[in-house]
Amino acid sequence: MLALALVTLLSAPPHQDPIPRMLKTIEPARLMSTVETLVGFGTRHSASDTESEKTGIGAARRWIRSEFNAISKATGGRLEIHEQHFTVNARGLGEVDMVNVYGFLPGTGVDPQGRTYVVSGHYDSRAGSGSDSTSPAPGADDDASGTAVVLELARVMSAGEYAANLVFICVAGEEQGLYGAKHFAEWAQETGLQVDGMITNDIVGNIHGGNGIVDDRTVRCFSAAEGLHSTSRELARSIGASARRYVPKANLRLIFRLDRFGRGGDHKPFHESGVPAVRLSEANENYERQHQDVREKDGVHYGDVPEWVSADYMARVARVNAAALAEWALAPPAPDRLFMRAAVSYDTQLSWAPVEDASVAGYEVVWRDTTAPDWEEVRAQGPEPSVLRVRGREQTIVRATIEGITADGCFFGVRSVSKSGHRSRVCYPDTP
Ligand SMILES: [Zn+2]
Repeated sequence: MLALALVTLLSAPPHQDPIPRMLKTIEPARLMSTVETLVGFGTRHSASDTESEKTGIGAARRWIRSEFNAISKATGGRLEIHEQHFTVNARGLGEVDMVNVYGFLPGTGVDPQGRTYVVSGHYDSRAGSGSDSTSPAPGADDDASGTAVVLELARVMSAGEYAANLVFICVAGEEQGLYGAKHFAEWAQETGLQVDGMITNDIVGNIHGGNGIVDDRTVRCFSAAEGLHSTSRELARSIGASARRYVPKANLRLIFRLDRFGRGGDHKPFHESGVPAVRLSEANENYERQHQDVREKDGVHYGDVPEWVSADYMARVARVNAAALAEWALAPPAPDRLFMRAAVSYDTQLSWAPVEDASVAGYEVVWRDTTAPDWEEVRAQGPEPSVLRVRGREQTIVRATIEGITADGCFFGVRSVSKSGHRSRVCYPDTP
């Protein structure tokens, strides 16, 4: 009975939840128009022309900046626009100047260095050869689609208010070695920006797989583990939970790998620096379109052109991103340390420090069979702490006892829930 009352308490009435309304404002036509404009710059190769107003990566970057500026203006300047300029020594290209462009939406409940969620797409492209900076390299799917998603998220999310900071970033140099993402991840670490989660959108527009499968619902979510457990993987599970709640037509496929076999993406430098980070990609890729010169041979059309990018699918991917980012940024932080006592016991006891955040309504204890990929059971837990004396010192903790379930056969975790019914990602015990 108590558990039922708590579940009711933790679920906000739908009219108080801004997420469904925000998701409705995502416009497929706008996403497509961004892809077509980016393709129109001919090539966005990292070493392409930076002076022309019509072609090359410089023109593309200035257009992205102007889009961000327009979004910022519409929000009365709340979205702050930044550029990061840096030079890299890229293999086969020598010294190349690169620029990341991003919008920063300050949270209402944190300082500018506080809890922050980052979403990215890379705006550079390439043709068949990675060092060819002049041939057409439309990069419609890879990764004008991800860039379009980032710009659309900036537009629809800047219209709302979130407790945590949000960064919408179009990164440079992915094709040459993840340079833009590396630069931002290192800069965030050096400056103490507290990045609590990162999603990269890369190849998120094509629904016709080269394997013949057409799938406009599945979105692959890649996450790696440092060991048995991983905050990146908890981020992935959390995106899955938000998608089930808010984007029921999307099927988020969790894949427990850092990335596609033998390949990489912009979440990698974040994950490696300890930031929970995942990659989203379409269900089935088509290799006749990626990293190909635009040409026709033996009746096959090669090249990453906009004809194969689906506006509705990009919108679905954008909604998956938006639901998760909004839920994290509206939810309290996850508990940061969880202790478990379960040895030689028929029950499992969990304890954690109360999350110091006015929005906390309570917590949810989750568990799953050790062989299950995702959380299976959930129990609401009130926020009331208890005071314990440990080695003569008083400690304030929240405690939960799960009777009749032992950690011998299950994994446990705890997440925070806000008064608005939004959930953090799950924190798992020090000894999982
Ligand atoms: Zn890519």
